Amino acid sequence: MKIKEVTIRHLKMKLKNPFSTSFGTFVDKEFLLLEVTDERGTIGFGESVAFDAPWYNEETLKTNWHMLEDFLIPLILNKEIQHPDELGELFKGIRKNYMAKSAIEGAIWDIYVQQTNQSLAQALGGKKEKIEVGISLGIQETLEKQIEVVDKAIKDGYKRIKLKIKPGWDVEMLRILREKFPDIPMMADANSAYTLEDVGILKQLDEFNLMMIEQPLASDDIIDHAILQKQIKTPICLDESIHSLEDARKAIELGSCGVINIKIGRVGGISEAKKIHDYCEEKGIPVWCGGMLESGIGRAHNIALTSLANFVMPGDTAGSKHYWEQDIIEPEVIVDDGYITVPQESGTGYKANLDAIEGYTIASKTYK
Ligand SMILES: [Mg+2]
Repeated sequence: MKIKEVTIRHLKMKLKNPFSTSFGTFVDKEFLLLEVTDERGTIGFGESVAFDAPWYNEETLKTNWHMLEDFLIPLILNKEIQHPDELGELFKGIRKNYMAKSAIEGAIWDIYVQQTNQSLAQALGGKKEKIEVGISLGIQETLEKQIEVVDKAIKDGYKRIKLKIKPGWDVEMLRILREKFPDIPMMADANSAYTLEDVGILKQLDEFNLMMIEQPLASDDIIDHAILQKQIKTPICLDESIHSLEDARKAIELGSCGVINIKIGRVGGISEAKKIHDYCEEKGIPVWCGGMLESGIGRAHNIALTSLANFVMPGDTAGSKHYWEQDIIEPEVIVDDGYITVPQESGTGYKANLDAIEGYTIASKTYK
């Protein structure tokens, strides 16, 4: 394929329910959507998962726009690309900025699978016909409300509940939730809200039979996590610390984690995500696919990735209607009794809803 045109759009979509983490609360999701067209007129869509503020990592929607406009798009315009795996080489002179790179790479994968007439899952080697789905629930204002949202998620069929925790909203909250829901697979995500000084608190979480505790310590750390893992029984899952296959190798060799959360945007794209998956499989480390409050475009890519064999734990890929009044794909992502059917038709299996996209767009620019 030869890339002829790229349009960046800034979308703003209102969340059905505000989402709170240890950093703050979101009411809207703002993000960049990329529309890439090749010489045959095939269009691919990619989503940047960078938020509008640098709380998850250093990338933001504006830094992504800058990287895309000034560096990444010029590298792909009018380039002959045989396979999306080539982008790693093409982008290697540009440090980090993984979410910006991933947005383009996702669109190139979309074009590639349409033109080779296969589903994205098939192209990646994914064999699962349906995937188990978990849900990530933000911090609620009261314990009663937290119990209520968990109860609803279980009734909706979700197979795993992820609870956001922070100092002061951890041991007691989890104890009560565990008593109320003794059998549901449950995990906690701290988004780096603790330090090694909190070992005492983190040890107490061992009694709640959590599948894992996600990223308890600093967002760029693998050393302290290795020290912590020796002192707690609950497997540590790394999220923010892992940006590449190399990071995954180092963390596993150090014993920093027992599980890895693979996010396509955080590791620079689908190709690198698959490499991390394959390496973890070889090492006996289970993985799962985390969410970034994606729209349907990014969610479709997550679904295809999760069809790979070593995604043995339910991901954060909840259905469209959990997040949005109207998603930007057709059909929307549907969760049926805790499962999503992996599309087998050519492409991602979801079509971009151009009217919906237009309606959510607050700025756009085309490069050719
Ligand atoms: Mg996380």
